[in-house]
Amino acid sequence: MRRVTILGATGSIGQNTIDLIDRQPDQYEVVALTGAGNIAQLAADARRLRAKYVVTAHEDRLNDLRDALAGTDIEVGAGQAALIEAGARPVDWVMSSIVGAAGLAPGLEALKQGATLALANKESLVCAGKLVMETAGLNAARVLPVDSEHSAVFQALVGEDIGAVERIVITASGGAFRDWPLEQLEQATVEEASNHPNWDMGQRITIDSASMFNKALEVIETHEFFGVDPDLIEVVVHPESTVHALVGFRDGALMAHLGAPDMRHAIGYALHWPERRELPVARLDLAAMGQLTFRAPDPARYPALGLAWAVMRRGGLSGAAFNAAKERALDHFIARRIRFTEMAGLVEAVLDRFEADSRLIDAGMTLDNVMITDHFARRWVDEEMTKRAG
Ligand code: NDP
Ligand code: MG
Repeated sequence: MRRVTILGATGSIGQNTIDLIDRQPDQYEVVALTGAGNIAQLAADARRLRAKYVVTAHEDRLNDLRDALAGTDIEVGAGQAALIEAGARPVDWVMSSIVGAAGLAPGLEALKQGATLALANKESLVCAGKLVMETAGLNAARVLPVDSEHSAVFQALVGEDIGAVERIVITASGGAFRDWPLEQLEQATVEEASNHPNWDMGQRITIDSASMFNKALEVIETHEFFGVDPDLIEVVVHPESTVHALVGFRDGALMAHLGAPDMRHAIGYALHWPERRELPVARLDLAAMGQLTFRAPDPARYPALGLAWAVMRRGGLSGAAFNAAKERALDHFIARRIRFTEMAGLVEAVLDRFEADSRLIDAGMTLDNVMITDHFARRWVDEEMTKRAG
């Protein structure tokens, strides 16, 4: 029996993880499940999977969760301390699939207890890559990538020497607006941005795909996880989302990873690693697909993408600043307080402000300093908006 915990169990990645576990329930002991607002889903999964400990991120939903689990002996918790406790309960494998910087602290707990961390929460690596990888190293814990591009790179590197890599190419679908006339982007609505052409994902990452903030996070994630120089990383728009990433070696060979756009592929690889087991994903029919296309990302359409290289070159806590500013700008777009096209400019202005007063991003990489940087980045997005409105 493998003991597993799922942080962010009610989300898109969490539900896909549960789908795989549900197919072989006798092989897993589910220790902890966490969610936030979706109490009904959380409780239903906890009952079926006989979880031991169930947590909602929202303190004011504790009683709802308790009611939903009435008649069971499942332990319940709520709030930040309980999320951390969920990550710390001893297990073999933890899925980190909370959305946003909120996933960092519980994921670090999982590493501290030596569990294998299947990392969908890319924000952890963007905000605190060094801290995450060092915590893993100090505790002999393993981090396995779950983001589809990074799982693809990881798989293409099996048996290879990272020193022989001359480029890593990650693909981008181009998101909801890849074929829109540029001048229409200003009018893009939240609903339109939440409609991904190929992947079925949570709302926030879907909007981040349309703006390519998601790809910017993934470029930084590549740099932090594989330890490669920023100049080796490339992004190419690939509307079919069939090739997830390619690794180029010094002899000119390019190893590509192809698969159906189904996250159970990357989740299953991380769940069964180092074995490959059968997965319930569609098989590609190459002849039926006919052709695959690639094009360069247009900087005018995707101004967020280029910020990734500025962040990587700056280093320190600039990733935490970037991610938090992005999260806050996205909150404002979802609340319809700003336009889709305003997000990248707001984030850039906040990065400039950090640069002008660099004490914050040059403070050491501790969890406290990440959270302080995160706090200021969010506040400065709001201040920048007020300034622009006035
Ligand atoms: P969802 O929005 O679908 O799910 C997010 C999960 O986090 C839910 O369980 C949600 O609870 C919970 N949650 C929300 N806010 C908080 C909070 N403040 N504290 C604790 N938990 C919270 O997201 P996705 O599954 O799409 O994405 C999860 C992570 O995986 C992200 O980091 C994303 O970038 C990454 N990822 C996702 C992919 C995908 O295909 N979806 C692909 C690659 C990476 P509730 O729903 O109960 O409110
Ligand atoms: Mg991805």
